[in-house]
Amino acid sequence: MNAKSALPFNNSFSQLPEQFFSHQRPSPVSSPGLIRINTALAQQLGIDAEWLASEEGIDMLAGNALPEHASPIATVYAGHQFGNWNPQLGDGRAILLGEVCSPVNGLRYDIQLKGAGETPYSRMGDGRSPLGPVLREYIVSEAMTSLGIPSTRSLAAVTTGDNVVRDRLLPGGILTRVAQSHIRIGSFQYFAARQDTASVQTLADYVINRHFPDALHADNSYQTLLENVISRQAQLIALWQSVGFIHGVMNTDNMLLCGETVDYGPCAFMDTFNPETVFSSIDRGGRYAYANQAAMAQWNLSWLAQSLLPLLAENEKQAVEVAQNALDGFAELYQQAYETAMCKKLGMSAEAPVNRMLKQNLLDLMSKEQCDFTLCFRFLAENLVPDETHSPGISEFFQLPSAFNPWMEQWRRQVSKESANLSAVQADLLAINPAFIPRNHLVEEVIESATTHNDFSLFHALVDLLEKPFDYHPERRSYAQPPRPEQVVENTFCGT
Ligand code: AMP
Ligand code: MG
Repeated sequence: MNAKSALPFNNSFSQLPEQFFSHQRPSPVSSPGLIRINTALAQQLGIDAEWLASEEGIDMLAGNALPEHASPIATVYAGHQFGNWNPQLGDGRAILLGEVCSPVNGLRYDIQLKGAGETPYSRMGDGRSPLGPVLREYIVSEAMTSLGIPSTRSLAAVTTGDNVVRDRLLPGGILTRVAQSHIRIGSFQYFAARQDTASVQTLADYVINRHFPDALHADNSYQTLLENVISRQAQLIALWQSVGFIHGVMNTDNMLLCGETVDYGPCAFMDTFNPETVFSSIDRGGRYAYANQAAMAQWNLSWLAQSLLPLLAENEKQAVEVAQNALDGFAELYQQAYETAMCKKLGMSAEAPVNRMLKQNLLDLMSKEQCDFTLCFRFLAENLVPDETHSPGISEFFQLPSAFNPWMEQWRRQVSKESANLSAVQADLLAINPAFIPRNHLVEEVIESATTHNDFSLFHALVDLLEKPFDYHPERRSYAQPPRPEQVVENTFCGT
């Protein structure tokens, strides 16, 4: 099969006027090597996975060959990084090869190479990525997807054969990232800051057409666009909270309008439940702590609203009112999505205040008892009804302390009030409370083994396991266990 039929590009972003991007070809690398192809994702995108794994395919994934009909570009954006305004960012180490339309769901997806060389937006950077962050992003983005959380995806990972210079020399890698689009809040901020309202409008129209076509029929399409983005972000952050995910670098340039999680830099899943948890080594003030994520998303959205102001109404006063109303809606949308997701983890509806209180009491207890977030919910799922079949579960190595007994009794009573069939509820709970998550110490082990020993077997084992995070296997017990004290990873790094 030739490159043309293997990658059915159908590009739209590169058809926009040139102020939105720079034409930029990937820079070649010395010696591309395949790490992994995501066959299931390739199929969903109508891409031939066998071709991707061929020499020609790997050359493309490494940036050494351009497929037919690719129109490689680096896009421009700005953003607030840790609250500080940066008027000039952009794809400094990522190149958008083009878009494909999925024959399975009809949606359009970006195919982007991350770590493919310098672009006009590289500033002081080298446009490259060490292997570690490539593996981390592959593992976590695919795990998020399997957990049912909107996320960019990973189509492939390759080694480059070249070293990159960081605090030491590290082997380089390139990730092929797939997203419904990479348009960020910062993409709008870039043009709004330059008072280029025409470009803000062009971009808004593009996003409406690509992601929110229903808004075309609304009285005020741009208001509907803003409301839709706010609603997707509220849903997204609620889902993060429900699995203990901490993004770590929620800058406005790392928030996509399509509502997918993006940029798995200094991110991590919490082990012990503590709402103040921060992992990122660069987040010294705890700005992006677990407990702050909803507030930070709202802050970011206020910059999107601000950027859209000239489009929202004829005069500024009216526009501010429209924007403020939309932003005020975030808190309620988030609260509702959060309570729904958390109560669902416990087999209860979020409607009854008593259920929401019960859930809060559990979180307070977990925090006081320093309980592992994931295992606590999985243990509850396994122990809603007495296990007569003795099927193996995490309860074989993890028990909640007796301090939880009164709470568990109350919980069982409450769930029984709502559902006659507790076994059915239990089956649901086992399908939404994961046994396996990409625990930070496991990800670090994978990275260490690949970087130092060129051994990718741990990487493949972890990716394979996390495809089905709800299926417990006793022989994989160690993957479900929290880190031993000496394995705890306190910090994660951007690794840029
Ligand atoms: P991030 O923290 O990954 O969201 O990146 C923030 C900005 O820095 C973006 O504009 C990136 O493209 C840019 N950047 C990060 N790492 C590099 C690198 N190694 N080379 C060039 N630009 C980079
Ligand atoms: Mg970024």
